[in-house]
Amino acid sequence: MDRKAIDAICTEVDFLYDEMVSVLQELVRIPSVTGEEGPAQAFMKTQYEALGLEVHSLEADRSRVVEHITYCDSGHPFKDRPNIIGIKKGDPRKQSIILNGHVDVVSAEPLKQWKHDPWGAEIENGRLYGRGALDMKAGLISNLFALKALLQADLEPMGSVMLQSVIEEEHGGGGGALACFLEGYTADGMIVSEPAPWVTVSLAGIIRCTIKVQGKSAHPSQSHLGVNAIGKILPLYKALEQLDLRRKAEVHFPLFEQNGAPSCHLIVGTLHGGEWIASVAGAAEMGCRIGFIPGEKTDDIRKMIETLVADIAHQDEWLRDHPPLIEWHPFQAEPHYQDPDHPFVQTVISALSHVQNPVTPVKPHGVTWTEDTRLAQHFGVPALSFGPCGERPHGIDECVTLESLKSAAKAAALAAYQWCLGDKS
Ligand SMILES: [Zn+2]
Repeated sequence: MDRKAIDAICTEVDFLYDEMVSVLQELVRIPSVTGEEGPAQAFMKTQYEALGLEVHSLEADRSRVVEHITYCDSGHPFKDRPNIIGIKKGDPRKQSIILNGHVDVVSAEPLKQWKHDPWGAEIENGRLYGRGALDMKAGLISNLFALKALLQADLEPMGSVMLQSVIEEEHGGGGGALACFLEGYTADGMIVSEPAPWVTVSLAGIIRCTIKVQGKSAHPSQSHLGVNAIGKILPLYKALEQLDLRRKAEVHFPLFEQNGAPSCHLIVGTLHGGEWIASVAGAAEMGCRIGFIPGEKTDDIRKMIETLVADIAHQDEWLRDHPPLIEWHPFQAEPHYQDPDHPFVQTVISALSHVQNPVTPVKPHGVTWTEDTRLAQHFGVPALSFGPCGERPHGIDECVTLESLKSAAKAAALAAYQWCLGDKS
């Protein structure tokens, strides 16, 4: 990479730093819980317009997105929740890039536990606090300033650069990143600036279900005539726990195990049983999230759970006649794997290496959650994620470190500049 360009880009981002922080503060102060992204998107639209981009406002078309295999229904109507796309058109013979981020955030509850106002964007010790500050308004703003720095430094990328501010990533991206791809907003490479100090090239597959067990309620004095659904669901819980342990021991995907964690996680996140303390529980249910690795198929994982539940039910006289019900949730994410040797990944790694401490080489990573990045594989777009870092995404006193906001903007700018120099293959 051209040393002069690197220096010019880094100097420009440093110059824009104060402005970048205050724009991020403005965005964090606009609550944008999934379903209520409208006002934050109006703000992003103004920002893209101010940069002189060609700005498109795209409300998802339900009839189109539902047809796609990866579609997850967030339960929210799309009206007044557009995706905002800002395009800096370049030479069509050169490679193009998408810098993507989601504007929606998860709920800030329980508010009382926050030390910092979740919508206050307070800064303390080099950290900016707020719901979504880290996940991932910082990434959206570092993308914006990456392009702004390039334009101001007179290093306009040769190929096209597309900024995307999308909705409902936290609910599967059906009306967000998926809608953008389906309407033709694509490029030769995509960076999703989700928080991470590394380059994420692989994501876990995830499905969720609720398992419902029926009992027979009865008055305590007639409990011998009832069937307690809580007692009936516990063996199923135990069996899932065993399955999780077995898979942790047997299923391995090295990119997921870099930090010493297992590759798969199967958790029961909710358990509800009974209606009233003085009645035999007539119903019980538990919510289960199953993570799996690239190479495993969603249908096979579903079948695995269904077989397990059927086996346990078969061993119980009551459950044999009253089989548990499995309800699969609309949220589902297939695993993602992007070949780290792809020139796009190598370009981004090289960009990041120029910005981060050169002593620790940037290594491709895998993570056991999901991001919009996975959607790109259906549209033939090489994709990865990296972005500003911080603490407690989705948690109390979520924050982003401002130093990483700056380095993420530099790396995104370098990557966009370098990638867009290349000829389309
Ligand atoms: Zn996120």
